[in-house]
Amino acid sequence: MSEAAMDLGLSPRVTELREKVADMVQNEVLPLEEEFLAEVAKGDRWTYTPRMSEILEGLKAEARKRGLWNFWLTDSERGYGLSTVEYAYLAEEMGKAHLGAETFNCSAPDTGNMEVFERYANDELKEKWLKPLLEGEIRSAYLMTEPDVASSDATNIAMSCVRDGDDYVLNGEKWWSSGAGDPRCKIYIVMVKTGDDDTPRHQQHSMIVVPADTPGIEVLRAMQVYSMDDAPHGHMHIRFKDVRVPASNLLLGEGRGFEISQGRLGPGRIHHCMRAIGQAEQALKLMCKRSVQREAFGKPLARLGANFDIIAEARMEIEQARLLCLKAAWMMDQGDPRAAAPWISMIKVVAPNMALKVTDEAVQMHGGAGVSQDTPLARQWMHLRTLRLADGPDAVHRRQVARKELKQYTQQNMG
Ligand SMILES: Cc1cc2nc3c(=O)[nH]c(=O)nc-3n(C[C@H](O)[C@H](O)[C@H](O)COP(=O)(O)OP(=O)(O)OC[C@H]3O[C@@H](n4cnc5c(N)ncnc54)[C@H](O)[C@@H]3O)c2cc1C
Repeated sequence: MSEAAMDLGLSPRVTELREKVADMVQNEVLPLEEEFLAEVAKGDRWTYTPRMSEILEGLKAEARKRGLWNFWLTDSERGYGLSTVEYAYLAEEMGKAHLGAETFNCSAPDTGNMEVFERYANDELKEKWLKPLLEGEIRSAYLMTEPDVASSDATNIAMSCVRDGDDYVLNGEKWWSSGAGDPRCKIYIVMVKTGDDDTPRHQQHSMIVVPADTPGIEVLRAMQVYSMDDAPHGHMHIRFKDVRVPASNLLLGEGRGFEISQGRLGPGRIHHCMRAIGQAEQALKLMCKRSVQREAFGKPLARLGANFDIIAEARMEIEQARLLCLKAAWMMDQGDPRAAAPWISMIKVVAPNMALKVTDEAVQMHGGAGVSQDTPLARQWMHLRTLRLADGPDAVHRRQVARKELKQYTQQNMG
C-alpha cells in the first residue's frame, strides 16, 4: 500500500451524511438527553420508564425515517458501503451525545457483536439474533473479562466450556459485561476456554453465542464506575453455572476465538476513538462558551491566567488526534490487519487520553458546575477515563507500538 495514495478527504457524499447526522444529534438528540437521563433516576433503574422508551424509540424511528441507520455495515446493499475513514466522520458526530450512537444503531458493543454475527455465524444464528439487532429491536453484550484473571492478557481467559453430546456446558464468571444490565439485552457473545493447557496459547479459546435467559446465568451485580452504575446499560458481573447451549452456537470452530476477537476489537476500538474525538470537540465548545460568558476579576475567564494556552492546546491536540485516527482508519481499509494493528493501538492510547485531558480542562473552566449534573462534562470525564482500560489498557497498546518499532532494529524477541 502506498501512503502517497492516502485519501483522508471528505467526499461530497460523506459531507452530506455528516451534515445530516450532525443536525440530528444537535437538534433532536441533545435536547432530549437530560430528560432521558433524569428518567433513569425514577423507579427501578434497570428498566425503561415509558418516557425513556418513547424518547429513545422516537429518536431511532426518526433516524430511520431520515435514512440514517446502520452506517457501520460495510456493504452497500443494506448499509452505505462506507469505508472506515468515511465512517469516522459520522462517528465523531455521534460521539457528541450520550444517546448519539444508539440513535443510528451504531453503538458499542452492538456494532462489534453484529460484525461477529455477520462474519462468523451460521444462517440460523443470523436469522435469530443478527436480524433483530440490525433492526434495533434487541441489544447484546460481549463477555470476555473475568474477575479472577488479568484479562488484559486474553490468553488468561478461563471460563470453562466443555462439549457434552450436542451441547456445550459453560462454568465460570465474567465481569464488566457492558450493556448486560439493559432489559433489552438478549444475547451474549462469550469468550471461553475450550482447549487444554497443552494446546498452543492462542488456540485454547473460542467464542460462543449464549442467550441471556439461558438457565444457570445469574447477574450478580452491576460494577460501579466511580460510584455510578451506568444504569440501565450497566457493566455486569455475571455467574455461569452449568449453562448449556447447543454446540452449533460455537462460532467458527474450537480454538478460533482469537481470530474472531482480533476481527471484532479492531473496528470497535477505532469507533470508540472516533466518538472520543467528538466528545473532546463538545468539551472544547462548552469550555470556550463558558470562558467568554463568565467574568472574574473584571475579565472574561478566557483572559485570565493560562486560559488562552489551555484553549489553544485543546484545539491543537484534537486536530492531531483526528489525523492519527483517520490514518489508523485508512490503514484498516487497506485490508492487512497486522499492518493496521499498531496504528489502532496508537490511536487507542492517544484519543482517550486527549479527550480526557480536554474534558478535564473544560470541567475546570466551569468551576463547581463542571463536576455537577448541570453539564454533561462530569459524566463524559468518567466515561473517557474508563476508555483508558476498556478494549485494552493503555500499557498493553503502548507495548504493541514499541514492539513494532523495535522489530526494525533487532532479531531478538523483545516480549
Ligand atoms: C467501563 C468498562 C467497560 C468494560 N466493558 C467490557 C465489556 O463489555 N466486555 C469485556 O469483556 N470487558 C470489558 N471491560 C473490561 C476491560 O476490557 C478490562 O478491564 C481490561 O481489558 C483490563 O483487564 P483487567 O481489568 O483484568 O486488568 P489487568 O489485566 O489486571 O491489568 C491491570 C493493569 O496492569 C497493567 N498492565 C497489564 N498489561 C500490561 C503490560 N503489557 N505492560 C504494562 N502494564 C500492563 C496495566 O496498568 C493494566 O491497567 C470494561 C472495563 C470497564 C472499566
